[in-house]
Amino acid sequence: MKDLHELKLIRELTHFKDDLIQTHELDRVYIDGNSYPIIAFTIGTTDKTKPALGLFGGVHGLERVGSHVVITYLTSLFKQLSWDEELRERLKDCRIVSIPLINPAGMAAHQRSNPNGVDLMRNAPIDCEEEKPTFLVSGHRYSNRLPWYRGEEGKPMEIESQALVDFCKEQLFDCPAAVTVDFHSGFGMKDRLWFPYAKTSQPFPSIKQVQNIKDILDETLPHHIYQIEPQFDSYTISGDLWDYIYDLHREANSDNENTLIPWTLEMGSWIWVKKNPLQIFTAGGFFNPIKSHRYDRTMRRHMLLIDFLFRASRNFKSWT
Ligand SMILES: [Zn+2]
Repeated sequence: MKDLHELKLIRELTHFKDDLIQTHELDRVYIDGNSYPIIAFTIGTTDKTKPALGLFGGVHGLERVGSHVVITYLTSLFKQLSWDEELRERLKDCRIVSIPLINPAGMAAHQRSNPNGVDLMRNAPIDCEEEKPTFLVSGHRYSNRLPWYRGEEGKPMEIESQALVDFCKEQLFDCPAAVTVDFHSGFGMKDRLWFPYAKTSQPFPSIKQVQNIKDILDETLPHHIYQIEPQFDSYTISGDLWDYIYDLHREANSDNENTLIPWTLEMGSWIWVKKNPLQIFTAGGFFNPIKSHRYDRTMRRHMLLIDFLFRASRNFKSWT
C-alpha cells in the first residue's frame, strides 16, 4: 500500500496500550487499488451517558494541518496517560472521541474530495435554505470534476460521511453534553470558530449555549485569536455534515436536555500564504503552513483551545 504519512502517525497511535484507549476501524475506502482505513479513537470511560469532547479532521484531503492538530493532541494525551494520575481520574467521568482523518483516500490522492470526487462537507441530505447560495461553492450536482460536488441526488451518503454520522450517533447522542471540533483550513486571514448553521441564516437553536461557551472562553483564554461566528456569516452551503448531525441529534433528543455543539475551526491559511507567497507552488501550500516555525506555532496554539473545550465539556453545567 502507498504510504500516507498521516495514516502512519495514526497507526502509531493505535499501538498505545492503555485500558482507557479504544481503537476502532470504522470502514475502508479504496482508490487506485489501495485501501485506506477510517480509524477512530474513544478515550476515557465507556459509559456513553457521560459528557464528551469530539475531535475530527481531514474531511478535506488537502487540509492536512487539521489532521495534524488532532494527531498532535492525541499523541500528547496518550503520552500523558502514562504519568498523569489526575488526568486518568478525570477520564473515568468523561470521554474524548476522535476521527483524526475522515477522508484518508482523498489525502493520499492530494485532493479535497473523496475518491468519487464528492466534497464530503457538501454530502449530507440537507439543502441550503437561502435564496442566493454562492455559485458552485455552496454545493452543486453538476459534475464530480468540479470542486464542491455534492454527489448524485437521492444516492446514499458516501462511505466517509456515513462513517462520521454513525460514529457521532453512537458515541455522542446519549451524552448530556457533547462539544465537537472539526479542523479545517483555507479560508481567510483569521482563525474562525464557526457554529451552525451553514445552511441558513435562521437563528441556531442552541445559540444561548454557544454564547455561554464564548463567554467562558473569553474569560479563560484572554487575548485568544478566535473569531467566533455562525458559519453562514462567511457563506451558506448545502449538505453540511454538522448541520445534519446537529439536526439528527435534536430530533433524537427532543424529550431531554442533551446538548451537542459542533464547532468548525477554519484555520485562516491566507496568512501563511501572505507571509510566504512561494508556498502556493508547493503541494498543499495553499492550505497548510509550510515554514517550520509557522507549523509549530499552529500546532501549539490550538492545544489550549482543545484543553479548554475538554474542560468545558466535563463542566457542562456551567454553559448548558
Ligand atoms: Zn475544509
